[in-house]
Amino acid sequence: MTPDPLGPNVIDIHGAPMLLTTSGGGGAVHLTAAAAAPAAGREAVPHRYFHDGGVDRGDVAAGSDRAVLTAPRWATATLCGRPWAVMVGGDGTAISRYGEIAYAPTCRRCLARIAAG
Ligand SMILES: [Zn+2]
Repeated sequence: MTPDPLGPNVIDIHGAPMLLTTSGGGGAVHLTAAAAAPAAGREAVPHRYFHDGGVDRGDVAAGSDRAVLTAPRWATATLCGRPWAVMVGGDGTAISRYGEIAYAPTCRRCLARIAAG
C-alpha cells in the first residue's frame, strides 16, 4: 500500500483552511488563507521547486501531489501581510533546502489575527 501523496500543509482555523508558509530560511511560520477566488491566487510550492538541479530541493516531487501543490489557490500575502516564499513541509517531506517542517504557525502577528476572529 502506498501512502497518500503529500498535499498542502494545511491546518483548519475556524473552519477555513490555512496554509503554513515561510518567507525564507529560518523565519517564522506564517498562516496564509485561500485566495478570494479559487484560481486567482498562487501555488503552495512554486514549480521551480520541482526541478532537479535547481537552487532548492529537487526531490520535492517524490511522494508529493504536484498538481495539488501547484494549484493557484492561495493568497499572495500571509495573514500578517507579508509576501511568502513557499509552503513549509509537514508530513512526508521538507520542501525547501532549509528542511523546515512545521505543524503550527509561530508568527505572533498571524496568531493575533486568528485570535481576533
Ligand atoms: Zn505572520
